[in-house]
Amino acid sequence: MAVNYNNVKIHVSHLQKNFGKLEVLKDITTDIYEGEVVVILGPSGCGKSTFLRCINRLEDITAGDMVVDGNHMDDKKININKARENVGMVFQHFNLFNNLNVIDNLTLAPIQVKKMKKDEAKQLAMKMLGKVGLEDKAQAYPSMLSGGQKQRVAIARALCMNPDIMLFDEPTSALDPEMVGEVLNVMRELAEEGMTMVIVTHEIGFAREVANRVLFIYDGKILEEGTPQEVIYDPQTERAKDFFNKVL
Ligand code: ADP
Ligand code: MG
Repeated sequence: MAVNYNNVKIHVSHLQKNFGKLEVLKDITTDIYEGEVVVILGPSGCGKSTFLRCINRLEDITAGDMVVDGNHMDDKKININKARENVGMVFQHFNLFNNLNVIDNLTLAPIQVKKMKKDEAKQLAMKMLGKVGLEDKAQAYPSMLSGGQKQRVAIARALCMNPDIMLFDEPTSALDPEMVGEVLNVMRELAEEGMTMVIVTHEIGFAREVANRVLFIYDGKILEEGTPQEVIYDPQTERAKDFFNKVL
């Protein structure tokens, strides 16, 4: 699917985020377009997770603009829950409800937040489980699943809210190596279907194949930005060169 450069899904302008005196995001400006896959790279502690969390206002921003689907996320007048429905998020540690089976994990938000009928929510959940190849695990509890399966359930759960943007925060970092591929494959399919995706990952191969654009964040700023080829294989700054020398 081609990126639609006429439709800005996430507009970020001079974003700053402090935790008390700690200035984490210092000046982030970028636009992310419909259907675009943006991979964020950078050293540990540079603010990647904080940036993702600012997109759906899991963190309040300190200064600047964050506009998602036309919603100013720091506007106290918007319905933040409504705005968040469009933005799915997948975490490193899955964050499944361990006391609920898979199908109930998937139907909870559609029923409670979207007021969907139970039957309809179940149908939708089965469809999304099919998409991630786990229809046969509908009745299983998270503790019975492998890490890769848990993460695929987490993706299916996010998709049940019919988001038009998906955020991924190191979705494969907690997985055994042999399970990384199955999760990346699901993400690759989503990208091919035209989902707008912002992904923090250390999977350089995936970034190279799937990303339209890579942002290299360092010290709370975007230090390099461009195609994977440009940023990963031909970085311009010493800091990016140093980083990619270590990870490649
Ligand atoms: P990354 O995801 O790139 O590793 P983070 O966004 O998690 O980095 O963190 C960036 C910096 O912000 C780190 O110094 C971290 O300790 C700090 N930080 C993150 N969340 C909080 C918080 N809730 N309170 C205080 N400091 C935080
Ligand atoms: Mg992080």
